[in-house]
Amino acid sequence: MSEAMHVKHEIGDEFLASYAGGNMAEAFELVIACHLSLWAPARARYATMEAIGGAVLERESAEMSAGSLEATLARISGGAPIVPEPPRSPECAVLPAPLRNYVGGRLEAVKWRPVGMGVRQAVLPVAKGATARLLSIPGGCEMPDHGHRGLEMTLVLQGAYLDGDERFGRGDVEIADEHLEHKPVAAPGEDCICLAATDAPLRFNALLPRLFQPFLGI
Ligand code: ZN
Repeated sequence: MSEAMHVKHEIGDEFLASYAGGNMAEAFELVIACHLSLWAPARARYATMEAIGGAVLERESAEMSAGSLEATLARISGGAPIVPEPPRSPECAVLPAPLRNYVGGRLEAVKWRPVGMGVRQAVLPVAKGATARLLSIPGGCEMPDHGHRGLEMTLVLQGAYLDGDERFGRGDVEIADEHLEHKPVAAPGEDCICLAATDAPLRFNALLPRLFQPFLGI
């Protein structure tokens, strides 16, 4: 991680808006909080959105009856998103602060489980509705080609992977949905470590990953 980080694939405004509104499953919130922690330009965009959202809310609450205001406030305070925390030095730790609460420390604290071909995963304790996992993929290793039945958000924390013509490095987020089929390949070099959140099982095209799917919980 000696090269300066430059994020090419930032999270879209539509996702930032649902994150700000607390309308996301915890697994996706975690991905976004980590992305914001790693990348200052996305944090700036989020701050603007929050300010606009706050202004709109203020205006709406002035027009609301007392009862509906209370209900709105309860909804908002109940859905406060996981808080991003900017790194002291972006290069010093692989895991951004919001993620460290989930693994009980830094990268060394992650309880990896081997899932074959040198790939390791650690499922994270998040609320039902979507799953979150850390994946560690050896450089050059191909992931099984797959489609999606829902939303998949992948944030790179170390190394990089290639998906078609696109390269995803530290801080980059890839969004996949029902319309995308892909076969990510870890870039040669150090292990690629990613945080991945999904809200539905993947659709593997080959038999072998399909057979293992129930055991991996992917
Ligand atoms: Zn995928």
